[in-house]
Amino acid sequence: MRISIQACIDGQGASPPRVITIGCVERDAGVDPASGMGLFVREAHELLRQMQAIVLREQADEFVRVAAGCLACGRCLGIKDTKPLVYRTAYGKAILRSPRFYSCCSGCGFKSGDGDTISPLAHALRERSHPQWTWFQCRYASVMSYRLAQIYLRDAFPGGKALPTSSIKRNVGAIGQRLEREANQATGDAAHSFRRANRLPLTGPPLALQIDAGYIKTPPQADGKRWIPVVASKLVRSSRGRGYAHASALGLGRRQGMRQQAFLQSVGVDRQSPVTVLSDGGDDISHACKLPAATARVLDWFHIGMRFEQLLLSLRGLRGADAYTKDRLQRDVVAAKWLLWNGRKERCFAELEALRRETGWVGSHNALGRLIRYLRGCSALLVNYAGRRAAGLPISSAGAESVVDYLIGQRMKRNGHMRWTRAGANSLLQVRCAVLNGQDVRNFKRWYPPGKQFAPLPRAHLLS
Ligand SMILES: [Zn+2]
Repeated sequence: MRISIQACIDGQGASPPRVITIGCVERDAGVDPASGMGLFVREAHELLRQMQAIVLREQADEFVRVAAGCLACGRCLGIKDTKPLVYRTAYGKAILRSPRFYSCCSGCGFKSGDGDTISPLAHALRERSHPQWTWFQCRYASVMSYRLAQIYLRDAFPGGKALPTSSIKRNVGAIGQRLEREANQATGDAAHSFRRANRLPLTGPPLALQIDAGYIKTPPQADGKRWIPVVASKLVRSSRGRGYAHASALGLGRRQGMRQQAFLQSVGVDRQSPVTVLSDGGDDISHACKLPAATARVLDWFHIGMRFEQLLLSLRGLRGADAYTKDRLQRDVVAAKWLLWNGRKERCFAELEALRRETGWVGSHNALGRLIRYLRGCSALLVNYAGRRAAGLPISSAGAESVVDYLIGQRMKRNGHMRWTRAGANSLLQVRCAVLNGQDVRNFKRWYPPGKQFAPLPRAHLLS
């Protein structure tokens, strides 16, 4: 059996339609159908690649035909030379003909461009990659390593065969920088909207914003630092249950607070909504926690719970205690945790101090000492968690997982082997957040509106 696949290109005006053979599918009648019927991935990729090459070539030629006319009289401009233009898509790359025309019309003398020559295709296609192809790279590189994304794209798309990891990195970096520029702009706008004169009163139910700092390994820098701090935050809107993430690796400075505010506005939060900031109480995020709409700061129950868990784990290995004593001590720890949960922090501290005497753990170089020091240090941020929960107020992010692990740990740590530059890490974080927030498609549609009509730049000459 032999099926040949052809493309029929309808003729322009008087020219007849053209038929181009794309490929053929041959099957041996004796082959067991169980070994796979229909197209194999390799065949499908090859057919798609051929089809894409035809579509690209025809589309580019037609565009040049339309765009190469004199803007005044419509007569075809004189051609100077033709250069190859490489365009990459998910269905393979194509080398397109990009002719250069003399911008001065030989008929009416009108100049259709600023320079002596114009290259309509090269001018219109400033990015030599299909937006959807760039989007795929961003999407996968944001949830897996560049190497894994390259393997996946290579297997899934004909265009992935000629896509090195370095290209993915470069494309993701460019999109990340674009998002960073937009975030910077939004931060400036937020600062403007919260100036004293523009400020509006805060009303409505408070939103919960979990803010945390994470650290990413970097190659040794000039100042000897080996880690880049990242401010990560997560907003969970209880009404829809959907989480939104934000991260920035550009320092821990004052601007972080306004940046958090800009992030909230970018995901549709009204600037009048009050915000409850949940954090681990660390100093590194003190600026980020001071966003203008923040009305309360609460020590995140997730972090408290985690530290109690660490203490319970250490108690299991307590030397010189029998199983019965260990069990009793663990029950005391759980009791102390519930005291804290119910807002009775002084009684909780008393319980923990009593545990010190029982275990003989003094100082702060043990799990108990660390817990006591942590809770006392953040004492002002401790609230009645049971009361808040009962009132429907947030005590932690709904997912209850650390925002740092969610944003950074799962993509940027990987057994501690990954090293990042500040710019590279920040770009990837912007792309990752956009994908996790489900905003990546919307961004690309905003940047590259589908079906948008092409307007040649020199048309301004005619209008003025
Ligand atoms: Zn002309």
